[in-house]
Amino acid sequence: MTIEMHPQRWGDPGAATTLDESARALVDLAFGLTETPAVSGATPPVTRLPEELLAGLRGIVGEEHVLTDDDTRALRTRGKSTPDLLKARAGDLADAPDAVVRPRTPAEVERLLAFAVEHHVAVVPFGGGTSVTGGLAAQRDGYAGLVSLDLVRMKRLLAVDPVSMTATLEPGLRGPEAEALLAEQGLTLGHFPQSFEFATIGGFAATRSSGQSSAGYGRFDSLVVGLTAATPTGTVTLGTAPANAAGPDLRQLLLGSEGAFGVITAVTVRVRRTPAVKRYDGWRWPSFEAGADAMRTLAQAGLLPTVLRLSDEAETAINLADPDGIGSESSTGCLMIVGHEGTAELVEARRAAVAGVLEGLGGTCVGEEAGQKWAHGRFAAPYLRDALLDVGVLVETLETATFWSNRERLYAGVKQALESSLEGAMVLCHISHVYETGCSLYFTVAAKEAADPLAQWQAAKAAASDAMVAAGATITHHHAVGTDHKPWFAEEIGPVGVRVLRAVKAELDPTGVLNPGVLIP
Ligand SMILES: Cc1cc2nc3c(=O)[nH]c(=O)nc-3n(C[C@H](O)[C@H](O)[C@H](O)COP(=O)(O)OP(=O)(O)OC[C@H]3O[C@@H](n4cnc5c(N)ncnc54)[C@H](O)[C@@H]3O)c2cc1C
Repeated sequence: MTIEMHPQRWGDPGAATTLDESARALVDLAFGLTETPAVSGATPPVTRLPEELLAGLRGIVGEEHVLTDDDTRALRTRGKSTPDLLKARAGDLADAPDAVVRPRTPAEVERLLAFAVEHHVAVVPFGGGTSVTGGLAAQRDGYAGLVSLDLVRMKRLLAVDPVSMTATLEPGLRGPEAEALLAEQGLTLGHFPQSFEFATIGGFAATRSSGQSSAGYGRFDSLVVGLTAATPTGTVTLGTAPANAAGPDLRQLLLGSEGAFGVITAVTVRVRRTPAVKRYDGWRWPSFEAGADAMRTLAQAGLLPTVLRLSDEAETAINLADPDGIGSESSTGCLMIVGHEGTAELVEARRAAVAGVLEGLGGTCVGEEAGQKWAHGRFAAPYLRDALLDVGVLVETLETATFWSNRERLYAGVKQALESSLEGAMVLCHISHVYETGCSLYFTVAAKEAADPLAQWQAAKAAASDAMVAAGATITHHHAVGTDHKPWFAEEIGPVGVRVLRAVKAELDPTGVLNPGVLIP
């Protein structure tokens, strides 16, 4: 059975959590007494799609796969950013689709798009619903209605080529489902974003996602060798060789296209053998600078482990989650997680080589316990966000990336913007995606909720986004553009870049039925 997330919370409802005593003490210490915010029941607006259009949709996918009940539509409303959760908690489901439509085949997707064009119905491709940038909050004004094109029934492993080490997957497979199918063949994709439990193959491709093991396996777009997408103009299949010089790489137009150019119906990815051994170690650094320099050295020496992440001083202290321990000697410095996966021989050889470099740079290995603790809790943080929202603490994350030479400036600029905007905020940061030329910075922010937490966060987010642009960094390393990042995205790609995107949109989706208002500035 497919587990559905509650519209007002993250994740498996069975894994919902509350703050334990030590976390509650930490909250009191950091923010003083917080008030428990009210949570309203939420009901989506009445469906606006007329009966004849619903009948037309039923004719394509079958009666039971056109759903208009409130619960199903509530579950397909927006994504899982903190603003999305705050709106849902306040009872606002105004962005709910008029219907949820579940195709089974690429041919049905094509027919749905043709139907949407004919009747001017807006279509929102829906994978796991984990967008954190408003990628599922399409505009509906001017359309006959808005349908969520839910890919939940397209969940097959279509092909495996064990010689070339590729696999072709349908878009609706969630992370664990894809891994389970590949594991039956002794293979892994190695893509483990924090949203792994719910996010899908199609969503990873449509947002150019990056997972926690990106240092070893690569970001999702680098794993894709081919894909098929249905567009209102026709279906396109790309990727006939591992590499080519056949003009610009059109796969890149669809990777990151966030449902605005087409519906991705199949993705062919590189796969690896299931690793026999996984070893994650903790390393301690005297400062964020020292740890970041060590990451750069590894990347530039071609010695990247499978997992490489570094928490700044504040995140290191909080990760220890012991209010009494904060400020003590054991909580100072910065924690780095260094993970190796592969055959026993490869892991031992890489581990020794990496350890040699890290020791030479002043790092101290603190053993496997810290690494295991991270691996064990790697998908837990979003559940904690709900528990904090429950007690009136606003928590959200944001991310960016830049070149190594600009890293300190970017870190200082974004941190300062967040701290100035959110009084008494706790701002934590880590680096978890590393390249020869630079890295991403991932910030977690917590503050006592103001009377209007949505406005409070929107102001802070705008300040942080301005700081990213001012520092010459990107507005997003892996969360994508959606609706939230559009103004800064436009600045990042410039007026000619915007025109190129609009031209592609006009060609592939001339009447603009696909995800209106998403991605394209
Ligand atoms: C708690 C949490 C942690 C996260 N951690 C990470 C992380 O570690 N790394 C990371 O990269 N991201 C992360 N994200 C962001 C999010 O999970 C990713 O953007 C993910 O790739 C979205 O996949 P999805 O299947 O949920 O897509 P959805 O949220 O359903 O859709 C995202 C966008 O892609 C479009 N889309 C979806 N499927 C298709 C398709 N088949 N064809 C065309 N368009 C499509 C949608 O219309 C939408 O615009 C996190 C989000 C949350 C809430």
